[in-house]
Amino acid sequence: MASAALKINQLEKLTGELENTGLMPVLFLGHGSPMNAIEENEFVAGFRKAGQSLPRPRAILCISAHWETKGTYVTAMENPPTIHDFGGFPQALFEVRYPAPGSPELAIQTQALVHKADIGLDQQWGLDHGAWSVIKHLYPMADVPVIEMSLDYSQPPRYHFELAAELASLRKKGVLIIGSGNMVHNLRMLAWDKLNTAGFGFDWALEASGKMKEYILNGDYGRLIDFRSQGRAFDLAIPTPEHYLPLLYTLGLRQADEPISLFNDQPVAGSLTMTSLSIGHHLF
Ligand code: ZN
Repeated sequence: MASAALKINQLEKLTGELENTGLMPVLFLGHGSPMNAIEENEFVAGFRKAGQSLPRPRAILCISAHWETKGTYVTAMENPPTIHDFGGFPQALFEVRYPAPGSPELAIQTQALVHKADIGLDQQWGLDHGAWSVIKHLYPMADVPVIEMSLDYSQPPRYHFELAAELASLRKKGVLIIGSGNMVHNLRMLAWDKLNTAGFGFDWALEASGKMKEYILNGDYGRLIDFRSQGRAFDLAIPTPEHYLPLLYTLGLRQADEPISLFNDQPVAGSLTMTSLSIGHHLF
């Protein structure tokens, strides 16, 4: 009898440990060209290694540069469709499907958590390429449920940073929160002749990237939130805010003194950077 009681105790202890996931890391992923979804390159290798190094999540909440709405929404369908939200790419890219399930439960839980805004439950969107082109390398089996949260284009930068902080408790429930964009992202100034040359950045792109990383690592978030007052290099790096704002969500979720690892930290084609962050988990 004593040994049976012991086994039950052990089982209860094990169940308790499974329920308590510890604090999940938070990622910012520089997604770059949609072609990263089907190409083999150093950035894809970086995403893959990150996926193998991270604790396995129960679900993913992704804030993508490619879903802008008036008001903030989360996808709440059981099976989010793969959205091919681009043009002029090879047919092979349009044929990619990433059939990860959704999580209506997580969508409802997220809605209930946030007080800063009334979060809408969306049944129309799905997974845009900001989400699937990178998450497919982290979890190629598409066996982790994914929901997306939209960017409210009518709100100032600080809204996004503060909204993120309200999502913090999801990290203790096994949810991996991913911001997907690019810190430096100016498509008008792309060096088209150097598209496949990782490592080439214009002076202003390198300047903005260097300052962004300095402010991130020093916890100087005020300047990052007030990115419109940081001068010419930032203005060129962030001509429109949608690829930058997912970074503010990632930083808004960082607890004091949590470690930050940089990876895929390279410029591409002059006017983009692929720089990605892992907060709360040392990569590689
Ligand atoms: Zn993009």
